[in-house]
Amino acid sequence: MFVVMAGTASEAEVLGVKSAILAEGLTPYDHAGPDRTVIAVVGDMGARKPALLERLAALPGVKAVTPIGTPFKLASREFQPEPTIIRVLDAVIGDGGLTVMAGPCSVESRDQLFETAEGVAAAGATILRGGAFKPRTSPYSFQGLGVEALRYLAEARERTGLPVVTEVMEPSQVDIVAEYADILQIGTRNMQNYSLLTAVGRVARPVLLKRGYGATIEEWLMAAEYIVSSGNPNVILCERGIRTFETYTRNTMDLTAVPVLHGLTHLPVIVDPSHATGKRRLVQPMALAGIGAGADGVMVEVHPRPDEALSDSEQQLDLPMFRSMMAVLVPIHAQLRRLREAGAGAARTAAEGRPATAATGDSTFGDRPPAGAAVPR
Ligand code: PEP
Ligand code: MN
Repeated sequence: MFVVMAGTASEAEVLGVKSAILAEGLTPYDHAGPDRTVIAVVGDMGARKPALLERLAALPGVKAVTPIGTPFKLASREFQPEPTIIRVLDAVIGDGGLTVMAGPCSVESRDQLFETAEGVAAAGATILRGGAFKPRTSPYSFQGLGVEALRYLAEARERTGLPVVTEVMEPSQVDIVAEYADILQIGTRNMQNYSLLTAVGRVARPVLLKRGYGATIEEWLMAAEYIVSSGNPNVILCERGIRTFETYTRNTMDLTAVPVLHGLTHLPVIVDPSHATGKRRLVQPMALAGIGAGADGVMVEVHPRPDEALSDSEQQLDLPMFRSMMAVLVPIHAQLRRLREAGAGAARTAAEGRPATAATGDSTFGDRPPAGAAVPR
């Protein structure tokens, strides 16, 4: 359940509610929003729920106590209506700007990584990716350079200024990966590795949580809940395709997940058209589609010579292809953002009963504002 505090509630009243929850052997998580604090009550309440609800509702400073409508609590928009904005070095994720994570599938050598890192940075990438520990379907495939690759990634960050995201495959690797990387990636095969989720929940690094290729949106959000409830609020969700009956593409990119998630959760959402499609020709159109669906960014695999790549050769873009993609993606994102913000402004204006044009000042959007509430992002 959520305890919604009155806007006027004092700090002591918030503390009073939290101690009452702790006294029941339950855990309170509070979120101070711009106009009120919400406290989520987490734990097994069993039969005492109705009585507890009444008792908490009677405490000073409490406005309302409401049952939680979803199994994920801290990740839900009910708990936190404002979007989570994540800052890593100079990159900001989830603030309406375009996040572009780009780099090779695997770090193969110092030179290969530096050539890619400098190329993608010059083309406008905001975060550098590169696999050090690789989860490969075959035990005979290249497994990654491990810690050597982590060192190259850290050097590439020094050279380009870009923060680094790389995968961590097991709890015993979390400390070393967190030492070198700025964002920890949980791969699709590990989305329900609960000991790993709990381990990354305990470190001070944002987590990029890829969707399990057979996971529902709810299971995915429950995985995010593991991380957030372990103490790490900075989770980025990444749609990377799910397995369906279709075999033409490597996976099926579930674009509907993007607006669904923006409705259900405050966490930022990005799309990975490289793993979703498995074909480089499809990466640009699906990156654009992801942005069209409202994603906060994309993750794209780039290699200076994809044909020589030691992993995922068919889906990696070369640098000219990456530059062409960016030449389309960046202006389209900027235009969409402008139109969405104008639309949200127009909807607010309409709700306040004032003429729409006065607030939007945007003739390209048209003079009919969308009905209802503002669209998130
Ligand atoms: C990756 O991004 O390197 C990767 C292995 O992706 P996924 O877990 O989505 O297959
Ligand atoms: Mn890959």
